[in-house]
Amino acid sequence: MENSKEMRSWLDEMNLPHPLVIAGPCSAETEEQVLHIAEELKDTDVNYYRAGIWKPRTRPGNFEGVGAIGLKWLQKVKEETGLKTATEVANRAHVDLALEHDIDLLWIGARSTVSPFIVQEIADALKGTDKIVLVKNPVNPDLSLWLGAVERLHSSDIKKLGVIHRGFSTYEKSKYRNIPEWQMAIELQSKFPDLPLINDPSHITGKREMIFDVSQMALDLNFDGLMIETHNDPDNAWSDAAQQVTPKALVQIMEDLKIRKETDQEAEYNAKLSNLRAQIDVIDHQLIETLAKRMKVADGIGTLKKQKNVAVLQTNRWNAILGKMILEGESKGLSEEFVLRMFKAIHQESINHQEKIIQA
Ligand code: PEP
Ligand code: MN
Repeated sequence: MENSKEMRSWLDEMNLPHPLVIAGPCSAETEEQVLHIAEELKDTDVNYYRAGIWKPRTRPGNFEGVGAIGLKWLQKVKEETGLKTATEVANRAHVDLALEHDIDLLWIGARSTVSPFIVQEIADALKGTDKIVLVKNPVNPDLSLWLGAVERLHSSDIKKLGVIHRGFSTYEKSKYRNIPEWQMAIELQSKFPDLPLINDPSHITGKREMIFDVSQMALDLNFDGLMIETHNDPDNAWSDAAQQVTPKALVQIMEDLKIRKETDQEAEYNAKLSNLRAQIDVIDHQLIETLAKRMKVADGIGTLKKQKNVAVLQTNRWNAILGKMILEGESKGLSEEFVLRMFKAIHQESINHQEKIIQA
């Protein structure tokens, strides 16, 4: 798949003065709920009204969506408010029903993107239509799998495309529900600068209090839009209660977000920016030098351990280093999460070095 301007034509044609906004409840619950939220969103920046009709739940027994009846409610939303509609599809039957009910934008959920069979089935079902299709990242941080799904749609002649960054599952505890791994979104942007990139801070954070910060980060990284779960009574929502915001809170978030320009031709700005970038280049170089030095020392430790036939992993020593570095990092304004991730990566590389020596 080549990068092409055609993929973003649907977005460019909207000529929006602000990022694209997709908002609405996690799940359609009742007709009243769906219409009530839509009424509150109709004269705001919201461009597409979202509602999950079929809900992929981690465990059985939770609310699994109202099913096809909800599509009628979305049709009513369009009639009564003029808002365009969006929902998740996970198989051919969903696509057929969504098309029948004239849903404007379909998205493929994170649990479906992981399955090439499902994505192909959806792509086949959509062939010959001109729907907008957005692909959520797969639950696992695999850029090829994510792009592979987009490619399957593209090969089925679906030209109005985009991706939604909703974060990734981890075994480790973190402050996020799904960790953002921003570098993946950045890499995707550099490979496909014209593929619209939407951020979903609701599923990344899992908590409404964190939605503003993640949204701002996304806009600072030149994302094209946001998908934010919005509910009239978030605490009593039938799914994802903790992360939904009220329509009023959504409007406030939109007002507070700073939309930064991608570039500014102003000379002074450019000069300052190049200067700071040059400094970053120098420091990055130093980081590599320092890490290489650290690995040389690890090699020395590997040689010693080999002589004495001692195990590579010394858990006590490792925990002591981590504790110290987290404190030191904190005193310099580095988050615990970052220091932990960085040192885990450094430690792994160090173990690899030592293993190589011990097994030589
Ligand atoms: C959703 O958007 O409600 C949803 C289920 O999202 P995801 O596929 O990202 O989990
Ligand atoms: Mn949800």
